[in-house]
Formats: sequence, C-alpha cells, structure tokens
Amino acid sequence: MNPVHMEQLSWVDYERRVQEGAVLFLPCGATEQHGPHLPLGTDALLASAISAEVAARVGGLVAPALSYGYKSQPKCGGGQHFCGTTSLDGATLSALVRDAVREFHRHGVKRLVLVLGHYENTWFVAEGIQLALRELGPDAGLEVMRLEHWDFCREETLEDIFPDGFPGFALEHAAVIETSLMLHFHPHLVALEKIPDDGPADFPPYDMYPTRTEWVPPSGVLSSARGSSAAKGARLAGDIVDGITAAVRFEFKLEGL
Ligand code: ZN
Ligand code: MN
Repeated sequence: MNPVHMEQLSWVDYERRVQEGAVLFLPCGATEQHGPHLPLGTDALLASAISAEVAARVGGLVAPALSYGYKSQPKCGGGQHFCGTTSLDGATLSALVRDAVREFHRHGVKRLVLVLGHYENTWFVAEGIQLALRELGPDAGLEVMRLEHWDFCREETLEDIFPDGFPGFALEHAAVIETSLMLHFHPHLVALEKIPDDGPADFPPYDMYPTRTEWVPPSGVLSSARGSSAAKGARLAGDIVDGITAAVRFEFKLEGL
C-alpha cells in the first residue's frame, strides 16, 4: 500500500502522487487540556488518525497536522485558563490555513479536505480557505472540503452509546466520544483510572469576559467520561471513517476507489 503521510515521502514521490490526483487531507487540531485522563494533543491526534484511515481508503495523502488551534472556549473546550492549553489568535489561524492552502495549490493539489478535531477552529479555518480561494481566483481548479469529524456519528450509534440522552457535542469535551475514540486509536495514551467524577457542566445562555472560571469543572472535563470503551470508539470511528470516505468519493467523484 502507498504510504499516506506526506512528511514520510520524498518530494519526488509526493509530486508523483499529487500529479496522479491524490486527495490531500489536512488535520486541524489544537493543543488543549482534555482532563487528567487524555493528552493535550487529543484533537490533532484524532483528526490525524481519522484522516489517515480515510486517505488509505481513497488513495489519498495526509499533510502534517496543524496542531495549534483557536482559543479554547469555556463551553466547549474548558477555556484558556488551563495550563498546557496553547492557542492561536483567530487571524493567526486563518493566515496559517490560507498559506497552507495556497502552497498545496502551488504543488498541484486539486482536492483538499480539512478535517477538524477542535470545534473552536471552525470559522477561522473557513476564513483561511475562503481567503486562499479568493486570492487564487475562479480558475484555480482547487476544490476544498471542510468538516468536523464528530458530525459523521450516526444517530443510532449515539442512541446506543448514550441510552440516557446525548449531552450534545459541545459538552462532549474530553468525555465519552473523545475518550472512546482515543481508546480505539491510541489506547496507550489514555489513563482510564484518572477519569474525574465532574460534570455535566451547567452553563448559562451567555458568555462572560474575563472567563468565569468557576463555571468550568476544575478537571476540564465538561461531562463524564465514565462508560468510555474501545468498543464504543471502534463503532464511532467506523461511522466517522465510513461517512467521510463516502462524502469524499461523492464530492470528488472518485468512482471505483
Ligand atoms: Zn477535543
Ligand atoms: Mn478541542
């Protein structure tokens, strides 16, 4: 099988794969606290692992991940007050994405997929894509897909994994979905015995600046990660990888791959 990781290829092999029309995946994560039981790199690690599985199925390539993201927000990432959370200003992230998209276009990439593993990145990544495409002009011949991987979890799967009701993706920070996916992809990086008893967090329908840190559970986990398992992670990963593969094949018309 062709290797999927761009950083493990020579420029000569990379150029050949790009000229053959390989879809390029760019994982976009964060360096952000994920409770006492998951590593700071969780968002980038998951986006990268998912990208690699999809790329292997469609003959694609995975670029080195953007491992810093937009600022962690209290209601979906715990906030900026945790040690280790290392974030970019929105304009910095947009510029980083814009430059990367322009470079991939210069290499001859025609189909690019940005796989987001950190919710706060959403509109700043979108901005970077749009700035690059505006600069490249209407004849650039580059099509870009942007997605958040958890949106590919099927409803039946969520009903089975959360029989008492799904708390919603925002409160899923460092909780059952991310912990189960990490148990599937990177089990040696999960400390199950350190899962805290906190949560679910109860936020008012507004934000305050400076952050009211007392609103956020001190562990940084926004709802309980108890009940996480590698089997649940395998099922979630199956939904996500199948779903993204189907979307990529459909939008980029990759019949037969
Ligand atoms: Zn996360
Ligand atoms: Mn995150």
